[in-house]
Amino acid sequence: MSIQEFYEFQTGAITRKVSNARVFLLSARSWGIIQQNMFLTFSSGAAVVLQEMGKAYGQDLAKEAKRWSRHPSEALRALQSLAGVSGWGTVTLRGDPIYESGLTISVDGCVFCSELPPTKTADGVCYFLRGVLRGLTDGLYGGSHEVKETTCAVRGEDKCTFRVTRAGPPPP
Ligand SMILES: [Zn+2]
Repeated sequence: MSIQEFYEFQTGAITRKVSNARVFLLSARSWGIIQQNMFLTFSSGAAVVLQEMGKAYGQDLAKEAKRWSRHPSEALRALQSLAGVSGWGTVTLRGDPIYESGLTISVDGCVFCSELPPTKTADGVCYFLRGVLRGLTDGLYGGSHEVKETTCAVRGEDKCTFRVTRAGPPPP
């Protein structure tokens, strides 16, 4: 997969070919600064804000992905490729949220924590991505999902890993 397959580049505007959605680039370093400043301003509340931002973004991405495929697992796989060419990291999917065992998503070289200083927090620090995955799975599969970051590169682990499980009964 190459970036040209997904995006159309023109001076002043980049658009996603399949949906015509306009996108923009943000450096990993700037993202790191944004996240750190949010924690300085909002303290632990920043984690909630970042997750809510991610969730809204994930829900919107799910709407777009549904146009690519009506099957949630296929749409999720298309998003996996999109995340790769968009520079989020190398994303690997295992399982499916429809099963009791859930879905495991690992991101090797995760961009969202790549510019954050190493820390020994109990949780991972990729709050935005965690929210994105929640919004995405809620949007694609219906119902609501719980997402936990079980490993995070910022803690010295080799990649960021997220566990997605259903938070309630399956949608009717
Ligand atoms: Zn992480």
